[in-house]
Amino acid sequence: MSEVALKTPTETQSGNLLDVQEIRAQFPILGEIVHENTLAYLDNGASSQKPIAVTETLERYYATQHANVHRGVHELSDRATEAYESARKTACKFVNANRTEEIIFVRGTTEGLNLVAESYGRWKLQPGDEILVSEMEHHSNIVPWQLIAERTGSIVRMIPMNDNGEIIQEDYLNLLNDKTQIVAITYVANSLGTVNPIKEMVRMAHDAGAVVVVDAAQAAPHISIDVVDLDCDFLALSGHKMYAPTGIGILYGKGELLEAMPPYQGGGEMIRRVSFEGSTYADIPHRFEAGTPNIADAVGFGAACQFMWDIGIDEIATHEKELLDYVHKCADRYEDIRIYGNAKHKAGVFAFTLDKVHAHDLGTVLDRQGVAIRVGHHCAMPVMKHFNVAATARASFAVYNTYDEIDRMFEAINFARELFG
Ligand code: PMP
Repeated sequence: MSEVALKTPTETQSGNLLDVQEIRAQFPILGEIVHENTLAYLDNGASSQKPIAVTETLERYYATQHANVHRGVHELSDRATEAYESARKTACKFVNANRTEEIIFVRGTTEGLNLVAESYGRWKLQPGDEILVSEMEHHSNIVPWQLIAERTGSIVRMIPMNDNGEIIQEDYLNLLNDKTQIVAITYVANSLGTVNPIKEMVRMAHDAGAVVVVDAAQAAPHISIDVVDLDCDFLALSGHKMYAPTGIGILYGKGELLEAMPPYQGGGEMIRRVSFEGSTYADIPHRFEAGTPNIADAVGFGAACQFMWDIGIDEIATHEKELLDYVHKCADRYEDIRIYGNAKHKAGVFAFTLDKVHAHDLGTVLDRQGVAIRVGHHCAMPVMKHFNVAATARASFAVYNTYDEIDRMFEAINFARELFG
């Protein structure tokens, strides 16, 4: 047992009346037995589990609504189109965009970021232009910029972070100049949990004449997103990390930018007229949704937004913050636990290493105890380089996690310590 007393969330949540057990009951998978132990799922940063509200929406969609969208003259096509476009309205509300046309359904954050790099980047970037990318980015917010930089002769520059895992704002300010065209930053760092001051960083970029692309993959499950308040130019997120199905996410873009941008992919759905003399393109958002979209999972995405609203995003954030405080408090008791990411503002992520036990061995021992965490470089090799480690272990929280699961993680860590120590 960890030395910190076992608590239930409802006991400690000052005024936050989240009924975690009732929420857990909506996730059948949490009752799974893994290696003879009840599952303790602490790998939500990689992908969250899905509530019945989402899986039932998918079943209902396929049982009563499915056909291809925007094409048919028949009833089912109308139903599918209505469900799909209604999900777009929900997604618009989820990020508080001004217009539904500013929401493009994509496969996930990776596709959203590649879309911006390929379309906006290819259109705007000139040789010598600069793209600023922070040191704590996930590879999906680094590599697309390197690819487009290679093709356009522009340059990717790194905005450094300090040892707490916070972007060094003075360095950021110094890097911004009249060659800076794009700033690509994460809202929440997946490998550290840092919540970046996006609003201020956007303001600084705009002062320098650059557009800002926000990776909100790890923010969407934990933070109420408001693209109008942030004033960001683009923002991408993945459904599967916020209780929605895999294979669906959204890219928000300011209408005037999206309207001016060339298509990303060509095909059906994205055209106005096609002839061998040349083709013209559909208005946004369809210009950026070539081919049959992922209709069912978009509808599931809408259900996931509703699931989060029903609980309350602030309530989810408060619960996860309490879990985060608890896990830090537990870890403080052990001298051989090294924590990565001590930013003042953190969300949902606890990254650590245990002296004398390799992160992969630790992950395997925890798995045998039914505790699922992520180990490795977390698709953030520059972060690993900064801290001079090959891999870390990472527990990441969702609304259904409990103090008991954190206690189980520390028990399993104790076991690993005994095995390898
Ligand atoms: N950015 C961040 C911060 C992430 O955590 C992830 C997923 N680990 C991604 C981008 C990529 O998301 P996806 O694989 O869903 O496209």
